[in-house]
Amino acid sequence: MLVCKFGGSSLSSETQFKKVKNIIEADPLRQVVIVSALGKGNPSDNKLTDLLYVIYTHAQHGICYEALWNEVASRFINVKEELGLTFSIEAALSEIKDNLAAGVLSVDDLVSRGEYLTAKLMSEYLGYDFLDAKDIIIFCANGEIDMASSREKCSNLAKGSCVVIPGFYGAYPNGKIKLFGRGGSDITGAIIAAAMGADKYENFTDVSGVLVADPRIVEHPPAISSLTYEELSELTYMGANVLHEESAHPVRDAGIPIHIKNTNAPDDAGTMICDDSPDEREKKVIGISGKKNYLSFTIYKKHMSTEIGFLEKTLAIFSKYHVNVEHVPTGIDHLGVVVTAESVNHCIEDLLDVLSNELQADDIEVKEDIALITVVGRNIVDNPYFLGQMFTTLADADIAISFIAQSPRKLNIILGVKNNDYIAATIALYDTLLV
Ligand code: ASP
Repeated sequence: MLVCKFGGSSLSSETQFKKVKNIIEADPLRQVVIVSALGKGNPSDNKLTDLLYVIYTHAQHGICYEALWNEVASRFINVKEELGLTFSIEAALSEIKDNLAAGVLSVDDLVSRGEYLTAKLMSEYLGYDFLDAKDIIIFCANGEIDMASSREKCSNLAKGSCVVIPGFYGAYPNGKIKLFGRGGSDITGAIIAAAMGADKYENFTDVSGVLVADPRIVEHPPAISSLTYEELSELTYMGANVLHEESAHPVRDAGIPIHIKNTNAPDDAGTMICDDSPDEREKKVIGISGKKNYLSFTIYKKHMSTEIGFLEKTLAIFSKYHVNVEHVPTGIDHLGVVVTAESVNHCIEDLLDVLSNELQADDIEVKEDIALITVVGRNIVDNPYFLGQMFTTLADADIAISFIAQSPRKLNIILGVKNNDYIAATIALYDTLLV
């Protein structure tokens, strides 16, 4: 049995619905279908989820949202009419609108209706049963997923049943709806695939797999044919955004491969993600990704290296401000702390005061506008030829490296460059290492 998840761009119009149907009908094992909400067909479209969030904010502030609501309604009604469906989407929409006006909906209640109504339409179109995610995706009171309860609910599904399930949300045991983070339908699909013991989790999107580099930066990068879960995590954490980074965990624990495929080119091979990696890939670069807007704090203090607990004290201060520390490059009497600029926006002044006072630092320097680029490949660190090439490439492009980190698992090398050099550095590394 296959669990198939379709992202918003695969569901942006009736044309996309038809492609989904062809894909489902091409393989009778595709019995469990998870859908996102209608997404963007072209760049000027709005994602339905974005519209619903904006509508909720308007409602909260008493600002008229009629035009936005009409956009949501007409997207659904168009799909229904073009496909000749009978589900009374008009009645469902007007009930939601009335409840919103009456102030009885939470933001999660409203936003989840994007996936809910998309699944209603898709289930009728495919002739599959509709199964509400709130009945099978169960959250604990602390907001974490309750895998045991979710597994138990999924196991009640009769073998061989064909269902469409809305992604992106579940419910607390009392039935209150809870959303995952943005892009969370990937996680829904992964949890259901794991809970049902699927043979494979197929994740359909609008690219033919995980690409070796960002297609907005390099022209037509090819897809990576296979990846391990670890390699995927390295690439997605640092910006390759084909799959939600948390969605690998449930399927990985259950030993289920993820197959990323393109709804618009279903015959393309896509990317297979599992725990095996072909030997010929050993010590080779398989992909590059990266992100801009990091910031580094360099803390100087004489005799720091002999002060036991200094690192712990430093990290505790960042954690007090809920700042996730990405890297900690160290020297003898100084130490760097690399974080995203976004994570310290709210507290940088206070953070600097506290670091300075509590650590009795001699000086603290803040460097902004740093981009991090990760070059990923199993045991690449053991390939001296490749390391030399990497540094020569950047030197030839006159790009200075401000920071280097290497994962202890030898899976990747991370380079810090200036934000302004990010694109040129990515292109240069791609041309040398991957073309
Ligand atoms: N529709 C939601 C979002 O746009 C969830 C998803 O697509 O996975 O984030």
